[in-house]
Amino acid sequence: GDQMIVVGSGMAGAQAALALRQGGWAGPIRLLGAERELPYDRPPLSKDVLLGQRDSTTLDIDWAGVDLMPGRRATGLEPGLLHTDRGSLPYDALVIATGAKPVTLPGARTLRTLDDALALRASLRPGRHLVLVGAGWIGAETATVARQLGCRVTVVEAAATPLAGALPAELGGLMTQWYADAGVELRCGVGVAAVEPGAVLLADGTELAADEVVVGIGARPATGWLAGSPVELDRAGAILTDDQLRTSLPGVWAAGDCVSYPSARLGTRVNVQHWDHALQSGRAVAASVLGAGTPYDPVPYFWSEQFGRMVQYAGRHAGGDLMLWRGSAEDPAWTVLWLRDGRLTGLLSVDRPRDVNQAKKLIERGVPLDPVAAADPSVQLKAA
Ligand code: FAD
Repeated sequence: GDQMIVVGSGMAGAQAALALRQGGWAGPIRLLGAERELPYDRPPLSKDVLLGQRDSTTLDIDWAGVDLMPGRRATGLEPGLLHTDRGSLPYDALVIATGAKPVTLPGARTLRTLDDALALRASLRPGRHLVLVGAGWIGAETATVARQLGCRVTVVEAAATPLAGALPAELGGLMTQWYADAGVELRCGVGVAAVEPGAVLLADGTELAADEVVVGIGARPATGWLAGSPVELDRAGAILTDDQLRTSLPGVWAAGDCVSYPSARLGTRVNVQHWDHALQSGRAVAASVLGAGTPYDPVPYFWSEQFGRMVQYAGRHAGGDLMLWRGSAEDPAWTVLWLRDGRLTGLLSVDRPRDVNQAKKLIERGVPLDPVAAADPSVQLKAA
C-alpha cells in the first residue's frame, strides 16, 4: 500500500496518525518526531509536571499499526522524498505537524518540551529567584507554580499590562492584581536588554539578580526545515494550507501549531497555537487525506490555569466589537462577552466553564443574543 509519513509527533501528528489508521489508510504509517519521547501532551508541562505532581505526560494511545520513529528529525522535503538526519524516506502522502518553537533570548530558558520542564523544575527550589520574561499565558502559569514551590518570582513585561496582545488593557489590567495577590512582582512597560550570568539587565538600566531566567514571549512555526521546498509558507513561517489543510505541494497536508488556514468564520487566515486546534486539526487532516474532508473551521478555544483560576477564551474578538460584562470583576468568577451586530464573537471567562461551553455553541451557530439577558450572570447564556 501507499506509504504515509507524519512528521512531528506532538498532539497534531499523533492524532493524525491515529485517525489515519482508524480511518482505514491502506498502507504503512510512519510517525516521525525529533524528540526521544513517545508522543506526549504539553499543557501539563507548565502545570502538574512543573509542580512535581507528574513526571510524564505520554499520550495513552495504542500505537499498533503505526511505525513510531522517535529521535529522528526532518531536514528537507522534495516531492516524494523526505530528508531526515538519518537518511531519506520516500512517501506517497505526507502530513506535516512540526508544531512551534519558542522565541528565545540568549541566556534564558524556554518551556516547550518535557526536558525543559524537568530541568526547570530541578532548579525551582525554595528561596531561589526566578525572573520570567513575558506576562503571557506561559509566564502566568510558570509564575503560579514557582510561587507554590516557594520561589521568589519577578515577571518583566514590555507592554503596559499582561496579555496585551490578546486582551484589552482593561482586562489585562485586572490581572495585575492576580500577580500581586500571589506575591509575584510584576514590572510592566519595560523591556529586557540582556540576560547575563546571574542577572537580567532591563532597558531602563535596572539590573535584577536572578537565579533562573525563563522567557515566554511566544512561539513561531517550526518550519525552518522546509526552506527551499515547494511547500509555501507565510512571512511568519506558517504553512499556507487551503480549508482542508492541503499545502501547496500535492500529496502534502499540514496540521497543528505550524499551519495557517483560511477561516471563513473569522474572515481571515489564522495560525492558531492551542491544544484544541492541535487535536481537531490532527483529526481533520486525516479525514482530508482519506478523501472525507470538510472545510476545517472550528471555533478557536483555549484555557489557561493561572493563580488558582481557570481562564478560558473562545472565538475571536476584534477591536470594534462591543464588550459586555457578565458579572463583575469584583466577583471571584466572571465572564466578558464580545458582540458584533448582536452576535457573539468571543468570550473570556474566569471560573465560569459553563458559560464557555454555551458560548462555543452560540458562536458556532452565529445566532443573535439578547444583550440584557447575556449581561445577567444568573441567566443561562442562550440565543435571543
Ligand atoms: P507540538 O506540540 O509543538 O509538536 C510538534 C513536534 O514536532 C515536537 O515534538 C517537535 O519536536 C517535532 N518537530 C519539530 N520539528 C521537527 C522536525 N524537523 N522533524 C521532526 N520532528 C520535528 N494550549 C492550550 O490550549 N491550553 C494550555 O493550557 C496550554 N498549555 C501549554 C503549556 C506549555 C508549556 C506549552 C509548551 C504549550 C501549551 N499549550 C496550551 C499549547 C499546546 O500545547 C500546543 O498548541 C500543542 O502542543 C500544539 O501541538 P502540535 O502537535 O501542533 O505541535
